[in-house]
Formats: sequence, C-alpha cells, structure tokens
Amino acid sequence: MHATRPLDPYSIKFCKDFTQDVYLLTNVCNIHVCNFTCYQNNEDILSKHCKYGSPTELISQTDFDVETKLLHICRTNQWLNNANLWILGLCKCNHDLKLIDALGKDGKALAYYIIN
Ligand SMILES: [Zn+2]
Repeated sequence: MHATRPLDPYSIKFCKDFTQDVYLLTNVCNIHVCNFTCYQNNEDILSKHCKYGSPTELISQTDFDVETKLLHICRTNQWLNNANLWILGLCKCNHDLKLIDALGKDGKALAYYIIN
C-alpha cells in the first residue's frame, strides 16, 4: 500500500484506509531524527541536548492538571512530532504543531513574520 494516492471519501473502506495511511505517514515523515540543526553549540552536541526537545516525555494517558492548568496529551512515542492525524492524512506531509502564546517570544516572532 502506498500512502501517496488520494483516498475515496465515499468508499466503505475510507476509515480503514485513512487509518493505514496515517500510520504509514507517521512513521515515514513525522518522526524526529536529530541532526546538526538540533544543536546550537558544542555543549549541546556533547550532551545530545536537542533544541526541539526530543526525545520527549512519554505520557500514558491524556490528563488535565487543575493546579497548573496544563493539558498533558497521551504520547506513546518519544520521537513523534506534534501531529494532527487529520492534517497528516489529508495533506500527506510532515508537520509539527505548536501552541503559541500570542504575547510570548514565539507569538511576537510569528506576528513579525506575518506582517513583513
Ligand atoms: Zn533533535
């Protein structure tokens, strides 16, 4: 099976085929592999400290921490980029979702990128 062909949304096998596509695409294009761009300096290289945070912490089940107000989403693979299965299945490409605080450093950088 090839994950590149368009799926027929009217097929009775759509759900099964979509699930298989997402599984294949996840393993082919949404697994992080550290390379030179992951390290900002020699110390990071020596300590293998990836600036993207990989490998990430495994989380056995999705949970909301009332005290910190943080949502911990289930993660069963330490190297999987933050992915939305529908985006992955429909666009058939890698992506890495990230929540951006509009008032934080990333939010300001994004605003600057959009308006320039
Ligand atoms: Zn990395």
